[in-house]
Amino acid sequence: MKIKVLKSVLEKNENQAQINRDLFKQNNVLAVNIMGSPGCGKTTLIEALIKALKPSYRIGVIEGDYAGTVDAEKLSEYGIPVVQLDTSSCHLNAHFVGSALGHLPLKELDFVFIENVGNLICPAEFDIGDLLKLVLYSIPEGDDKPLKYPLMFSQADAVVLTKTDLKPHFDFDVKKVRESIARLNKDFELFEFSKKSSASIRPIANFLESKFRAIALKSYGDL
Ligand code: MG
Ligand code: ZN
Repeated sequence: MKIKVLKSVLEKNENQAQINRDLFKQNNVLAVNIMGSPGCGKTTLIEALIKALKPSYRIGVIEGDYAGTVDAEKLSEYGIPVVQLDTSSCHLNAHFVGSALGHLPLKELDFVFIENVGNLICPAEFDIGDLLKLVLYSIPEGDDKPLKYPLMFSQADAVVLTKTDLKPHFDFDVKKVRESIARLNKDFELFEFSKKSSASIRPIANFLESKFRAIALKSYGDL
């Protein structure tokens, strides 16, 4: 009986995820699901992406972070629409995201960055209707994370190693990480980002721009 209930919850989530995804597609919006542990730098990466992309693109943010509205307030200083979700949950689901969509001017946006709850486990289990998944992963977390959280890394369109300025202080093998992700995931990009190097956001922004062009051309196979 319990199994049946769980199945219907997941089915409802799938249905709503499809509704969200269709809305993003109809409006030519690249919805990016940003996942990673607490403190791995999700908000920092979103800030850097806003700075890099805002001159040419229209950006909105759905902030699903667990604790308060600090991140949402910081991001709204860029003069972009930001919706804060009060989830009190360890992951976002499609209904949370669906409830935010009515508060965003989707017709007038190119990118929506969705900051998921800081957690490497269940955010991977709940489709929110995004079109692209970025998994963040900071150097201090150690180079064995892909082995511990295979579902998360198997789904990533791109993995962003963050806080890479700390590499000299940690025994972190980037090649080993790339190989362990490659065993789980046939098609992913790997980027290195440090907020101390403003140039390090450019390859990530270029990647997102190319994916946005695929959305605008309705060429979803290229995502
Ligand atoms: Mg955050
Ligand atoms: Zn959860």
